[in-house]
Amino acid sequence: MKEFKHFINGKFVGSQSGKKFEDRNPVDGSVIGMVHEGGKPEVDAAVAAARAALHGPWGRMTVPQRVELLYKVADGINARFDEFLAAEVADTGKPVSLASHLDIPRGAANFKIFADVIKNVPTESFEMATPDGGSALNYSVRVPRGVVGVICPWNLPLLLMTWKVGPALACGNTVVVKPSEETPATATLLGEVMNAVGVPPGVYNVVHGFGPDSAGQYLTESPDINAITFTGETRTGQAIMGAAAKGLRPVSMELGGKNPGIVFADADFDAAVEGISKAAFANCGQVCLGTERVYVERPIFDKFVAALKVKAEAMKPGIPSDSHTGIGPLISHEQRDKVLSFYKKAKDEGATVVTGGGVPDMPGNLKNGSWIQPTIWTGLPESSDVIRKEIFGPCCHVAPFDTEDEVVALANDTPYGLCTTLWTKDLGRAHRLSPRIDVGLTWINSWFLRDLRTPFGGSKASGIGREGGVHSLEFYTELRNVCIKYA
Ligand code: NAD
Repeated sequence: MKEFKHFINGKFVGSQSGKKFEDRNPVDGSVIGMVHEGGKPEVDAAVAAARAALHGPWGRMTVPQRVELLYKVADGINARFDEFLAAEVADTGKPVSLASHLDIPRGAANFKIFADVIKNVPTESFEMATPDGGSALNYSVRVPRGVVGVICPWNLPLLLMTWKVGPALACGNTVVVKPSEETPATATLLGEVMNAVGVPPGVYNVVHGFGPDSAGQYLTESPDINAITFTGETRTGQAIMGAAAKGLRPVSMELGGKNPGIVFADADFDAAVEGISKAAFANCGQVCLGTERVYVERPIFDKFVAALKVKAEAMKPGIPSDSHTGIGPLISHEQRDKVLSFYKKAKDEGATVVTGGGVPDMPGNLKNGSWIQPTIWTGLPESSDVIRKEIFGPCCHVAPFDTEDEVVALANDTPYGLCTTLWTKDLGRAHRLSPRIDVGLTWINSWFLRDLRTPFGGSKASGIGREGGVHSLEFYTELRNVCIKYA
């Protein structure tokens, strides 16, 4: 049985209250560890350590020194790749094939990418005439925000956490991370790597716990946090913005989505079916960029639904280490209850259940896991909650459309605006439609492809701000001007 302690000022420490909660493996529901629950004392200690580190060796480091250290962090993760992989898989139940290709490599890469970004930051300068006939030079410098609070979800724990910690540290900030209560392992393990490669104590801190009345809330309310970066549900983001408003702290919000997938009749059919099936079912549907609303041009609608059904039914649930496993469990029974309530609602509202709709029959101990069937519906009205609310499970509703204008209106009829995936061979149409769909990210004939230098973030209720490449600097640094009168 593992014990997950907080990582504060370079040391693993328990909670003053002695409170702990269980970390369960979603594959079979077994308890794999006990997690210390942080409260105000742990948050205060972590924030104080982070503040002190800003004024210590970390704050005095040059950019090349920081870059070198961040490269070592990436190498340190890769050197313990199998441990990170085992920890992530035990916490999430996701297939090893997925975590070994996506979660862990990207978790390490996030440190290298942002080290490279900070090495190459351009600056600006302006020469001006002064009233006395002399000159002055203005130049801008980027300084770290200070102590950054990082609050993370459970669907891609290491990847999404380092996506924030990487740029925060590259820019010279220090961080206090609150990982999801469901997935405490890899954030804790990263503390060992930080110590091993020589990141000064206090630069990277982790406090475990829940949201309200727990570590999450105390972190957002701490007056000594300078900025808060959050990935999670839109409703949680709103609560965090409320807390950040006290003290006028900037926020970066990567929130929920109800992303439309759009398939035109002229699309490469097999590629579109493959792409939409990944967008709907990958990571058991627990991907903010996934699609739960699919619109297919009427001439190919029936054929498309039939082909998507074949894909869904080919996704065999199974243990993470089995290379034939196509789909893992949901993160928890609580999340499964939520997803199943939508499965029930769809049925009650008269949806045609093309496939799935329930819980698969699993052998032995796996019966205790939070397994669920990939599910496809047709026939629901657009007003249904199943089409309007984010479910975050392996499911989608497929509806036919007839015209470009109609599908643009359908795509935009949502409070969310994270991404879309659009399938057509007509590039003119792709260019025409992309700016009309109110989302932060548009994929044409692809899904989930990302160069990490590009801006990432959502429109409308899907987020505030853009991170990625140089765009992360807007949030993790403050730009200041220096004016020198020299003649
Ligand atoms: P969540 O909002 O329930 O929790 C996220 C984190 O916030 C957890 O660490 C939780 O403990 C903490 N938290 C909860 N309430 C809090 C509060 N009042 N104050 C401070 N912290 C609080 O989200 P989740 O269920 O873990 O993740 C799924 C959600 O994340 C989905 O909505 C998904 O779309 C979204 N998501 C978005 C992106 C993106 O980039 N836009 C990426 C991944 C996930």
